[in-house]
Amino acid sequence: MISGNSLLDDITEKMTSTEYDDEKVDISLAVIGESLNLAYIAVKEVVSENHVLCCTYEWSADGKRDLLNNESRFSDDIWDRWLSGKGSSAGFWEWNLEMGVPCPLKLIQKNLAGSIIHIQMFKGDNFIGCIDFVDNKPGRKWSTNERALIVRFNDLLCEYLSKWHENKKAITSDIISSVYDHTTRLPRYELFCMEVEESFKELENSQLVILSVDFTNFKFINEKYGHEEGDLFLENVAKNIYAYTKWLISCCRSHSDNFLMVCKCDKIYTKARIINTIEDISRDFVNRLSEKYFDCNLCVNIGVHIIRSNTENIEQCISNANLARKFAKKKKHEYGHSCLTYDPAMAFELKRQAEYISDMKKGIESGEFFLEFQPQVMTDTLEIIGAEALIRWKKDNYNRLMPDDFIQIFERDGCIIKMDYYVYEQVFKLISERMRDNKPLFPISINVSIVHFYENKLISFIGSLLQKYAIKPEYINFEIDERIAVMKMDNVSNIIDELRAMGFRVYIDNFGSGYSALNTLTRLNVDGIKIGRTLMKKDLDRNDQIIIQCVVNMGNKLSLEVLAEGVETAEQRAFLIKSSCEYMQGNYFSRPLSIEALDALIEKQSL
Ligand code: C2E
Ligand code: MG
Repeated sequence: MISGNSLLDDITEKMTSTEYDDEKVDISLAVIGESLNLAYIAVKEVVSENHVLCCTYEWSADGKRDLLNNESRFSDDIWDRWLSGKGSSAGFWEWNLEMGVPCPLKLIQKNLAGSIIHIQMFKGDNFIGCIDFVDNKPGRKWSTNERALIVRFNDLLCEYLSKWHENKKAITSDIISSVYDHTTRLPRYELFCMEVEESFKELENSQLVILSVDFTNFKFINEKYGHEEGDLFLENVAKNIYAYTKWLISCCRSHSDNFLMVCKCDKIYTKARIINTIEDISRDFVNRLSEKYFDCNLCVNIGVHIIRSNTENIEQCISNANLARKFAKKKKHEYGHSCLTYDPAMAFELKRQAEYISDMKKGIESGEFFLEFQPQVMTDTLEIIGAEALIRWKKDNYNRLMPDDFIQIFERDGCIIKMDYYVYEQVFKLISERMRDNKPLFPISINVSIVHFYENKLISFIGSLLQKYAIKPEYINFEIDERIAVMKMDNVSNIIDELRAMGFRVYIDNFGSGYSALNTLTRLNVDGIKIGRTLMKKDLDRNDQIIIQCVVNMGNKLSLEVLAEGVETAEQRAFLIKSSCEYMQGNYFSRPLSIEALDALIEKQSL
């Protein structure tokens, strides 16, 4: 072994140069590694302000470079400790396997670690990274000379890297964009999978939990606050994941607002305990997010797949967690949970959904879809003033499917547009035939899915129907789901204004179901509102009554027509009369009917 001084002279010479050269650092690491008889050295530098360290240089006695360019993100408290490390014990410390505590470092080859010296690098007062000197044998006693050598080498490297800092920044930012997501600074999917695979190796007493997370209505943040705010939201989620989950091994953003995480916990944790823990954490997290984006109705959806054996296929595990997330999103109201674990029955359900989407076109062509009409009446006299067209599907083996069985599936796919166009044409045709046959005419309400507001072809399609069937627009009402309240208002109000300019009446459907902000009514030029079925409970308690009365009062004062949906009992009707709600619809008067049955009812009334 050469003496410490001549070794440092040698290294100093290499590093005192007018040019930046990666290789000089590599050679210096090798020189010091061999002279101290080490197994491994890792240099880690700060590459962004987001609590991230990247392994920028690596030397190992066996020549392997497993962790080069890997990044680790640290939670706020650990990062604060890094920052305050200068001159303190946090800036220089030793670890030894014999201490009986796990190795505290993420960015080292753990199988090589028996004894470690960890030292931080500072430029002035700024923390710029650290170096780990690793011996594979536990219990190494570092001599005073060795410690001094390490400190002086650290100073030299620190100076060298600071000098070429700008240059390094450019280099590492290239590394980041290829391996790390630009927005959140989290690893990309491929790197995440490698990290999951790595953690498969140590499963004797533990289990891995894969989480797939996304947010209902994330798109509304982009729409309402702009894409920059959307990016900030994602970055914030990434930070919070690290701050919250002490069991976290790795995480990534696989796309859009979909995050994947892998956590490790002891095998004694039951499925129920895992789910409860996740739900507690996520509830707190979403409450805080909702304070900021209070008008976006944000919800978190979490799918979980628990891995207990290392024979499972990683891609399949991730896909199971994703599937469970989709179910959590869809069935939240049914199950009352934001977090679901994977169940093989979910895969069958998915198959059914795919089948519905692929069979829709055929169903339309062969007349499997048909309409029923639910009368809308004056609340006090029960005189029929119109009807709502509601779609049903008589699909091959099924008696008939109701909208709740397929509308959401079609909405998610986008093919709802095709189905709605079919409904609109049927209704226009029906009215023109009734005009021709001198049958009684009354306005028919048709439902407009929120998806039309992304497509922007609704107006021209309706224009072409008006031309083709030459009916009076006063016989068509449009019911627009209240979810539009959280969309970009300009676009929505333009479409509503155009429909009204064509002579149609426009209503907000399902008002009060949770999306409407009060100012929706003043910002959108609509003719009326339909109070949602969810507000019209069987036994209206005092609070329900107050809410309904307020909505009716508000509508009346704004000169809007107000119709209450889902009226089933005489008591509900009496309450509506008392509350001055002029119109109603519901099973109390009539369930949805075929057009022939509706005609018979109208005829009976006119006698
Ligand atoms: P919606 O627009 O709120 O329609 C009213 C729903 O309430 C209908 O359910 C109707 O059958 C039901 N309903 C009416 N009165 C009562 C009652 O007293 N009690 C109960 N429990 N239910 C009552 P349906 O036919 O299952 O339709 C569900 C939803 O599917 C509709 O809700 C609408 O949003 C959507 N939908 C139906 N047809 C179409 C369509 O052609 N296009 C689009 N985009 N959506 C449609
Ligand atoms: Mg409706």
